[in-house]
Amino acid sequence: MKVGFIGLGIMGRPMALNLLKGGHAVTVWARRADSMAPLLDAGATGAADAAAVAGDVDVVFSMVADAADVEQVALGPRGVADGARPGLIYVDMSTIAPAAAQSIAARLAERGVSMLDAPVSGGEVGAINGALTIMVGGDEAAFGTVAPLFVCMGKAATLIGASGAGQVAKACNQILTGVGVMAVAEAFNFARKSGVDAARVREALLGGFAYSRILENHGQRMLDRNFKPGFKAWMHQKDMNIVMQEAHRLGLMLPSSAATAQLFNAMVGSGLGEEDSIAALKLLEQLSGA
Ligand code: NAP
Repeated sequence: MKVGFIGLGIMGRPMALNLLKGGHAVTVWARRADSMAPLLDAGATGAADAAAVAGDVDVVFSMVADAADVEQVALGPRGVADGARPGLIYVDMSTIAPAAAQSIAARLAERGVSMLDAPVSGGEVGAINGALTIMVGGDEAAFGTVAPLFVCMGKAATLIGASGAGQVAKACNQILTGVGVMAVAEAFNFARKSGVDAARVREALLGGFAYSRILENHGQRMLDRNFKPGFKAWMHQKDMNIVMQEAHRLGLMLPSSAATAQLFNAMVGSGLGEEDSIAALKLLEQLSGA
């Protein structure tokens, strides 16, 4: 299959590389030439814009930032819809609001393009290792066509339901990971303020009921004070904003998510937005007399 990939940042770059390694011909476009360079070096074909990518392939993936970016890539001037051949499948793997994904899918359908929303979990390491968890919303036939491509990027791709359902699953994932990061940061800050070594606390808790991959992986990075992204704090703020907007729309009470969203707001407001979301620890320390 001929494949296109748009958005070659922390996640998109290794995902596109894994499609190449899987033996697929890959055409790429990114706003900045230096984002495209590693893919061109690895054998991908460069295109002038998103429309040119769409005109050259059977399936186009995008991995950009927010709904406005997906809208621009899909439906903007020289976007995917402008270049699409009949039968093109467009797969957006960014994390955006379910309602936005549904709206973009409906407008693309009017122009003959079938869209899947397919956000991922697993972070940069999962993207590099081709071990992402992929949550898909959309048409079953399109999912069947794209499934062999998902295998190159992920260890599991699950069709959750109709258009937008993949993004609902991802919002659930972000509730769990956002609240989880804050919980680990709170626990470590509590240990430190109590005069206890947080590393010893982590080591003990990994053997108990509080074990989690967040405590194991993010906890170690917190102890190493390695706040290099990874997953930028402003991205997690964006995702908790999606969660809170959906909660408002549905009349839903999400108290832990609401508190977590406020903490991510404060991270961005205090200049930690470009650091990894685990820099939540720094914010809590600052607020507690570190
Ligand atoms: P990133 O490193 O900032 O990469 C995003 C890329 O998209 C950048 O290269 C950016 O180009 C490009 N882009 C953004 N808006 C665009 C537009 N309108 N037109 C063309 N290109 C555009 O972000 P990331 O960490 O890879 O995250 C990408 C998506 O994956 C987000 O939705 C995020 O929530 C989700 N996600 C991230 C992780 C993670 O651990 N990082 C995990 C799961 C899901 P420029 O370089 O020119 O700005």
